[in-house]
Amino acid sequence: MLVPDWSLLLQTPAFETTALLLGLVVGSFANVCVYRLPRGESVVSPPSRCPRCGSRITARDNLPVLSFLLLRGRCRSCGAPISWRYPAVEAATGLLWLGLAATFGPAPRTAVAMALVTALLVLSLIDLDHKILPDVITLPGIVVGLAASFLPGSPVRPLSASPPPGGSSPSPRSRRPTSACGGSRGSARAIGRWRRCSGPSSAGRRCC
Ligand SMILES: [Zn+2]
Repeated sequence: MLVPDWSLLLQTPAFETTALLLGLVVGSFANVCVYRLPRGESVVSPPSRCPRCGSRITARDNLPVLSFLLLRGRCRSCGAPISWRYPAVEAATGLLWLGLAATFGPAPRTAVAMALVTALLVLSLIDLDHKILPDVITLPGIVVGLAASFLPGSPVRPLSASPPPGGSSPSPRSRRPTSACGGSRGSARAIGRWRRCSGPSSAGRRCC
């Protein structure tokens, strides 16, 4: 029996191509999250429907970017215009995943970067539309971000004030005050502000 060699997917250019295609699909799901999460709706059911006529969007009309072009930006059933933002988010996610795959290659931090970049894209659009940052994204994002800082080659060291290996120590004049956990006070304030601004309680409040 012929056994597929999945390791080929980790080689160039198959890895980058796979990242692009998966990014397009995840971008389609990101559109669902952007629309439904602020409304408190499930992101898995019911299936996507046209907001005007309610007709279910079939698989052939749900292909990232391609379906929008084939349908010329209109619902197949009622002809209602489809926002250009749907294919734009799909294309942006696909290109971001392609760029990360080409930059970092097949490594754990690539997957983490893809997840965080997608989360930030979704958060940006929800913030743009509703001025909120849902806890369901921000709280796991904090955990994933901190955990990812321990991965080899991570450029972020939030839990340590020590310089990177081989780097020079900052001069006493340039050294910023640190909090009890070792992070800078500026970072602690930024995280605190981010936490206060997230969640339904921040609705209607512009956070910076
Ligand atoms: Zn329709």
